[in-house]
Amino acid sequence: MVEKIVITDLDEDRYSRLTLIPWWNQEKLKNTRVMVVGAGALGNEVLKNLALLGVGKIIIVDFDRIVQADLSRSILYRAADNGKKKVEVASQRVLEINPDIRIQPLAANIVWDVGLGLFRSVDVVIGCVDNREARLAINQACWKTNTPWIDGGIDVLHGIVSVFVPPQSACYECTLTDLDYNILGVRYSCPLLRHDDLLEGKTPTTSTSASIIAGIQVQEAVKIIHGLEVPKGKGIVFNGLMYECYLIEYPKKNNCQSHEYYEKIVELNKGVEETTFRELLDVAQKSLGDGTILELDRDIVTKFRCNKCNEELPVFKVLGKITIEEGKCPKCGEIRMVDMTNTISAKDEFIDKTLGEAGIPPLHIITARKGKEIINYQLSINSY
Ligand SMILES: [Zn+2]
Ligand SMILES: [Zn+2]
Repeated sequence: MVEKIVITDLDEDRYSRLTLIPWWNQEKLKNTRVMVVGAGALGNEVLKNLALLGVGKIIIVDFDRIVQADLSRSILYRAADNGKKKVEVASQRVLEINPDIRIQPLAANIVWDVGLGLFRSVDVVIGCVDNREARLAINQACWKTNTPWIDGGIDVLHGIVSVFVPPQSACYECTLTDLDYNILGVRYSCPLLRHDDLLEGKTPTTSTSASIIAGIQVQEAVKIIHGLEVPKGKGIVFNGLMYECYLIEYPKKNNCQSHEYYEKIVELNKGVEETTFRELLDVAQKSLGDGTILELDRDIVTKFRCNKCNEELPVFKVLGKITIEEGKCPKCGEIRMVDMTNTISAKDEFIDKTLGEAGIPPLHIITARKGKEIINYQLSINSY
């Protein structure tokens, strides 16, 4: 007997098993933009899932390079990739899995280098980072731009996925304890030492718990994209030893510092590299009047001071963009103290510097304020 060849099976579209799901909307996934922060163990699994599901546009952020230890937990990396930038290799492999996807690699530090406009441009952010500072930065950016985000964390056989949906739900900062704040080191006496010291230790992880937790993260993202109910302001705890999985609800803190929301955002047609603080202030003053100031969401160092040599040097740079090396006194080698500001007014001596020169990232959003009146200005993509 001759076997019948069923041609239709061969012709089946890539997504045909997905579209069997009654509520599935492949077109919606194709038009979705997702930001994945971190391309380590979790990030790899998240990216793999997004690629298989056909999520149309992915922005991947990570500043690390691939090392041999990544190979036991990272499906997208090979031994030959040693030393290459994670985002570049990950992007290439995602495209091999699914060439339909548009992926933008960003070799950047999420705390300082990713403009708020980029957060605003995505439908959901998936956090695959291993430290509190990065989580806090993602959380604040998501709240300001009204973007849901899904945090993932793994610890040996355990893991947790937290779903944060602004503005109603509890946020990541609402979950922090005094111990967390201590680890974050908010009370460091020398601010220059902060950002380098904050990266927390290497966490013990396995590929198995990474794929379980990343699977839940992406599944929650798919639900958000389809408008299905998700556990807002809750953590999905997975205990891999006891095979328990349960929800915890995070109480929303009324005095939480991360609930700021940018209500009115005006998009400018110039980028950070070609816009000076004076130009931005002029635009803002046309709407808000004289006496308007620019408020930055980060500290700008205006002066280095060496107490030992009794010398001062003017600078103008975002704190996080200054390396420890730059902070050292060229004469005596001591780490210098710094003067900082986070507001800019018309009489500031640095008013003619560009935002880019100061270290403000492309597509960032800057707040202009006069009294209680606020307008937020988003710099454009031109300089990107
Ligand atoms: Zn909060
Ligand atoms: Zn000195």
